[in-house]
Amino acid sequence: MRILFATAEVSPIAKTGGLGDVSGSLPKALAKHGHDIVIFMPLHRQAREWFTRNRTTLEEVLPATQIMWANWAAEASFLRTTLPDTDIPLYLVANDHFFNREQIYAPRADGYDDGIERFTFFCRAVIRACELLGIVPDILHAHDWHTALLPVYLSSGLRGMTEFAATRSVYTIHNLNYQGIGRAAHFSVLGLHSRYWSPDAIEHFGQVNLMKGGIIFADQVTTVSPNYAHEIQTPARGAGLDGVLRSLSFKLTGILNGIDIESWDPETDPNVPSNYSASQMNGKALSKRALLDDAGLRWRAKTPLLSFVSRLVDQKGVDLLIPALEHMLRAGAHVVILGSGESRYEDALMRVGEANSDRCRVWIGFDNALAHRLYAGSDMLLMPSIYEPCGLNQMYALRYGTVPVVRLTGGLVDTVIPFDATNAVEANGFGFVTPSPRDLFTCAWLGMLNFKETRTWKQLQANGMSADFSWDRSALEYDRIYRRAMMAF
Ligand code: ADP
Repeated sequence: MRILFATAEVSPIAKTGGLGDVSGSLPKALAKHGHDIVIFMPLHRQAREWFTRNRTTLEEVLPATQIMWANWAAEASFLRTTLPDTDIPLYLVANDHFFNREQIYAPRADGYDDGIERFTFFCRAVIRACELLGIVPDILHAHDWHTALLPVYLSSGLRGMTEFAATRSVYTIHNLNYQGIGRAAHFSVLGLHSRYWSPDAIEHFGQVNLMKGGIIFADQVTTVSPNYAHEIQTPARGAGLDGVLRSLSFKLTGILNGIDIESWDPETDPNVPSNYSASQMNGKALSKRALLDDAGLRWRAKTPLLSFVSRLVDQKGVDLLIPALEHMLRAGAHVVILGSGESRYEDALMRVGEANSDRCRVWIGFDNALAHRLYAGSDMLLMPSIYEPCGLNQMYALRYGTVPVVRLTGGLVDTVIPFDATNAVEANGFGFVTPSPRDLFTCAWLGMLNFKETRTWKQLQANGMSADFSWDRSALEYDRIYRRAMMAF
């Protein structure tokens, strides 16, 4: 099948989180299964810088093209390269006004958040490029709110055009809490017929809601773990769209994300100071020493090193982490933190780091190489997420023999088997349910106690390292969903 992937992020070129990782690795697995994939993403400044750093030449595939819709017009250039280490075509939609920004999701220089305009332009540009370049996908696979308009456009008229007559759409929710919400006035930006201004379409309680449109109009909807697929149909986790999702549950499937096991392999990872594998773990101890050195912390035998690598937003449980940290440090842990996000969290974490500089190091920023070193060098990874659609960090940690300490929510339930003293044979981490600092600390404390039990610990590490989180199985499930979408008419 010919599949067009439209996404705001692609790792390693430009990413802020899991969406980028998935867009960089799922296409490879699908190509291995015989699908013919093309990817479209915006040419963000980060992407341009990545290509320059990596001396990648971008081929201009179309002259600057006027993209017109409703009362709008903006110019797009289309460039092409391949997804790194593959021959999968990667098309970049360039427009400096919209995409040449410091941050991938930054508002305009004057502070106005023009996200809806930017990604409407992107979706329109993708369609225009398909027309001009003769790209006729069987499946249009859109991801998150940024490209949610593609299934809507497909149903609103594109299917009447011969090129797209047989094209079907799949929409993947990577995080239901970012929905692409705009004021009612934004509806005119979208260039849709007024019948789409309806609670059965794009309107949601008087506002524009792009994700709702993607969910309603896609032929199939997926999300990134089976447990999250269940959770988002409940009022507690449905972020206002649970009713819509329940009513359309016949076309909703949870498919667990995989990870790119080649880029994330402790045996070959060039970022890891001393490579290691499940059968040869010396390198992990050396990587821990190197990480402690980087962090300015002194190595002490039997002192567990806990880490936290994350966007610093409330979703990730930073409000639980900050009070619990003090207790973990007092209980004798070393803690290293890498994150960026909301300044209130950055400042609070920095303060904890500064006040405990002999036990704790906080790096504020986004640093992929350092993230790899943290997964390799730590004993435990903290993930006290309030909600977690899938979570990749815990899978990276497991693969690197780092035992995850997680709140049992979303995809963390599908990937972490919490230790409970009766299941050491299969457990691979520690888990808690109630979102409180006390329960987080108690859970981490249980981990710290077991860290001293060498046999138990080795078993936990081995269980994690032997789990298969490769994309192979999930790619087969996507294949099944694509086939189901093709049957829609
Ligand atoms: P989310 O997509 O919600 O941020 P995931 O667990 O699915 O969470 O994916 C997070 C990805 O982003 C992982 O690859 C993780 O290593 C990476 N990441 C998060 N914060 C940072 C950071 N500050 N520096 C480097 N990588 C980070």
